[in-house]
Amino acid sequence: RAEPAVRVADDGDVRSWWPVPGPQSDKYLRGVVALATGSVTYPGAAVLSVGGAAAGPAGLIRYAGAAREQVLTRHPQVIAATRVADAGRAQAWVCGSGLGSGARAIADLRAVLATPVPVVLDADAIAMLVDGAMAELLRARRAPLVLTPHDGEFARLAGAPPGADRVGAALRLAAWTNAVVLLKGSRTIVASPDGQAWANATGCAALATAGAGDVLAGLLGSLLAAGLPPVRAAVAAAYAHGLAGRAAARVGAVTATDLVTALPTVTGSLTAPC
Ligand code: AMP
Ligand code: MG
Repeated sequence: RAEPAVRVADDGDVRSWWPVPGPQSDKYLRGVVALATGSVTYPGAAVLSVGGAAAGPAGLIRYAGAAREQVLTRHPQVIAATRVADAGRAQAWVCGSGLGSGARAIADLRAVLATPVPVVLDADAIAMLVDGAMAELLRARRAPLVLTPHDGEFARLAGAPPGADRVGAALRLAAWTNAVVLLKGSRTIVASPDGQAWANATGCAALATAGAGDVLAGLLGSLLAAGLPPVRAAVAAAYAHGLAGRAAARVGAVTATDLVTALPTVTGSLTAPC
């Protein structure tokens, strides 16, 4: 069996997809992205995912997690709520990075899955999908969903690690979950339920650092909120994230905070000036 055809996005593709605000745009038209990320134990995941979102094209960020104080200290422009249900309207949700798996996390994930807008599920939210009732909610969803597992999270959900055929593995999980799957790693793959597969060419090993995935999830949410279709949003987010890794690595050792610092220059370079 031949490996499915894999496309590789280049600068021109990502540039042509990247949402640009029209002259009459306002912050709501640019897109509202909301995040249920972080926890008392992992407040940093909230700060990093919001940092990723802040580098994206959305005009407003809402935060509805347990790390409100830390997020607002680092990102004062964010509108914070205490619960997902109180967050107000959003055009896309990001859920799971550093969220934990307690009662609050379960309620947050349920509330996010009940929204009619595109959703990114990362990290702990992916782990929680193993629960049968949660898997049913997932399969019943009609609005777009993007899962961003690394290999370990993939293995928990799919029952086995991706193995050598990462493209085939990602496509099978995409078909089973009816979600776009962004399978992270040294060879990041984006696979969609309709059989499309993309490989990212910009990654670098400097991205193998704690919190890097949280930044990616936030950026992806911002692109979805701005209206990019899920496959393009996932491919563009991985592309820009990889370029930010390279840019940060040229300066020195890379932490996830350095990625957040590097991202606006990268996303700016992918955006036509207004
Ligand atoms: P996470 O494990 O959730 O923090 O995500 C790690 C991020 O780093 C993902 O975007 C991976 O694709 C990326 N990454 C990890 N290891 C490598 C590697 N060796 N080369 C390129 N990217 C990597
Ligand atoms: Mg992660």
